[in-house]
Amino acid sequence: MRVLVIEDDTALAKALAITLRARGDEVIHASGGRAGVDAAAHGHPDLVILDLGLPDLDGTEVLIALRGWSAVPVVVLSARHDAAEKVRCLDAGADDYVTKPFAMDELLARLRAAHRRADSRPDDPVVATSSFTVDLAHRRVVRNGEEVRLTPTEWRLLEVLARNVGKVVGRQMLLDDLRGPHAPSGGHYLRVFLNQLRAKLEDDPAHPRHLLTVPGVGYRLDP
Ligand code: CA
Repeated sequence: MRVLVIEDDTALAKALAITLRARGDEVIHASGGRAGVDAAAHGHPDLVILDLGLPDLDGTEVLIALRGWSAVPVVVLSARHDAAEKVRCLDAGADDYVTKPFAMDELLARLRAAHRRADSRPDDPVVATSSFTVDLAHRRVVRNGEEVRLTPTEWRLLEVLARNVGKVVGRQMLLDDLRGPHAPSGGHYLRVFLNQLRAKLEDDPAHPRHLLTVPGVGYRLDP
């Protein structure tokens, strides 16, 4: 396996690399979030170990960026003992979550499990509705045979809904995705962007068939 280790703690990164290489894995190391996203894009890892406390980006931001195009299994490492954070990471697409300090054997077992699960996961990067198609891998939306231009925020919102097609995505989760985990809640903000998306993608934006509001809860993309 090729394992990408995104970790700014040099000693820990080194220990992980030694352990993984002894197991026969290839190791790529990035010591920051941006370098990690680059390494994931160019290095095609089979597995990512992601530290949450990075000097440039928060680990959850790295995770969200990764999930923009990749289904690679991600095991998060965190020094924090915060249940809400764990939930946020899992919601954002982490496959597992390990709290520091951890036993190397335990981490290896979790890496193996995450990799096994990923192997059996169908990776379908295209979500088709009867009005438009969302190509997650290429970050494209096509409607009536033409590509629709979206702003980065509109894309991000659509992407999260598309990854959860048919399921309700809570308002707070959407806000977390759009503005980082510590943003104040603001349903108004989401409504504005949802309406923009409807105007671009729905046949009848006033009576949406795909980008649906679930009152009091959140939003859902229906095919
Ligand atoms: Ca760190």
